Amino acid sequence: MRAKTQTLGGWGRWPTSTASVFRPERLAELQRAVADAPSVLARGAGRSYGDQALNQSGSLVLTTRLNRLLGFDPTTGLLVAEPGVTFRDVLATFQPRGWRLPVSPGTGFATLGGAIANDVHGKNHDGRGSFSDHVQWFDLLLASGEVRRVVRGDALFRATVGGMGLTGVIIALAVTLDRVTGNAVLLKEQRITDLDHFLSALQAARASSYSVGWIDALARGRALGRGLLETAEPTDTTLPPERERRRRVPLDFPGFALSAPMVRAFNLAYRWRVPTAGRERLAPVAKFLYPLDAIEDWNRIYGKRGFHQFQCVVPDAEAPRALTAMLQAIADAGAASFLAVLKTLGPRGQGMLSFPQPGFTLALDFPHRATTGELLARLERLTLDAGGRLYLAKDSVASPASIAAMYPDLPAFQAVLAEVDPAGRFTSDMARRLGVRGGEARR
Ligand SMILES: Cc1cc2nc3c(=O)[nH]c(=O)nc-3n(C[C@H](O)[C@H](O)[C@H](O)COP(=O)(O)OP(=O)(O)OC[C@H]3O[C@@H](n4cnc5c(N)ncnc54)[C@H](O)[C@@H]3O)c2cc1C
Repeated sequence: MRAKTQTLGGWGRWPTSTASVFRPERLAELQRAVADAPSVLARGAGRSYGDQALNQSGSLVLTTRLNRLLGFDPTTGLLVAEPGVTFRDVLATFQPRGWRLPVSPGTGFATLGGAIANDVHGKNHDGRGSFSDHVQWFDLLLASGEVRRVVRGDALFRATVGGMGLTGVIIALAVTLDRVTGNAVLLKEQRITDLDHFLSALQAARASSYSVGWIDALARGRALGRGLLETAEPTDTTLPPERERRRRVPLDFPGFALSAPMVRAFNLAYRWRVPTAGRERLAPVAKFLYPLDAIEDWNRIYGKRGFHQFQCVVPDAEAPRALTAMLQAIADAGAASFLAVLKTLGPRGQGMLSFPQPGFTLALDFPHRATTGELLARLERLTLDAGGRLYLAKDSVASPASIAAMYPDLPAFQAVLAEVDPAGRFTSDMARRLGVRGGEARR
């Protein structure tokens, strides 16, 4: 099959790089594309933010057309699917039949293959772990052309989970769905006045099925860390189907749209939506899980220069000090960012490079500007000093030394790569930047 030369970015649209892009519809085409390429990487829906799904001057194999449901067992809830099936697809097909994926990231556009490659987490990590905790097996196309069935517990399973596509291409996977009734959650929203209150409210919310905090990252002084806390419980209610109204961002926004006063006004309005006494309402699961999906291409709000997302996790004990320092650094830099997300994470993920570890995770966006690198480097240092780690699905600038310190199982991961892909044919811009295979870092 023919490739197209294309310049692509991640969801943050910075950086970009040019690769030969294949979009196979059949497995045989994918296998041929992988066999013929000196350097290759799978790419799903491109919802990782930085340079993880890019491969400058190499090949990218898009899985978006490999999106068939291959089988479902209604006695066990086991779904077998191709890797390009998305979270939206699964929700739309299975929720009306009484089944849902137990773990879902904040966008329904991500693919299931991409979800394994980043071992994604949702708003329920304390209770349900990460996506791969529910994956029973996957079929992996290796650099040699061999297709291997990889089951839980295998070293190759733990390397591929969170392994950023570097072990091979997942061509099919089996994941267990949860039995559910209804399509709604009971959503409780409450205003939170500052970071201390946020941390204790989120700590208490670990017992809820779902919890997520939205922080006004421009608030300072006594209001530092103020925001809204959402907790939710599944219900048996079936809300009538809503007509899907997806809005588009018609153009790349100009720089002034992100000035601090504009962002401040947005963040305040968002907080005032909820009355001082809080409120409770039924919300469709899809809207609760994927609030940003209502606006297609929302990444254009940050303009042509693109943006960065920073996401870290820091242990509970370090969270008050580390998160205060981070929020202060962000507010001092006047780095306009729409609402930041604060969540709790539970037990460590099983992947060698899984992001989740117990603690608080903070995520927020910054427009790509000349000074952004300095701020991100400061946040990276604060994360490291607190014994935390950065989320590679969001990263585009971290240093190899920090990542090696944050991910102590990196040598074990490298040992698996050396075994399954000794020539290093599966690679990415991120892998080269961070020297993930060892000895190949650019800086
Ligand atoms: C609005 C938004 C909200 C988000 N919320 C969350 C969240 O709450 N929690 C969370 O954990 N993440 C979250 N993310 C990040 C996102 O879930 C992950 O980056 C996910 O991996 C994206 O999947 P994708 O299909 O777009 O993969 P891509 O971005 O295309 O690729 C990501 C990685 O997966 C690899 N990959 C893709 N397909 C395969 C395959 N078939 N075989 C092997 N490797 C493969 C690629 O090589 C690459 O390394 C969010 C992203 C956005 C844009």
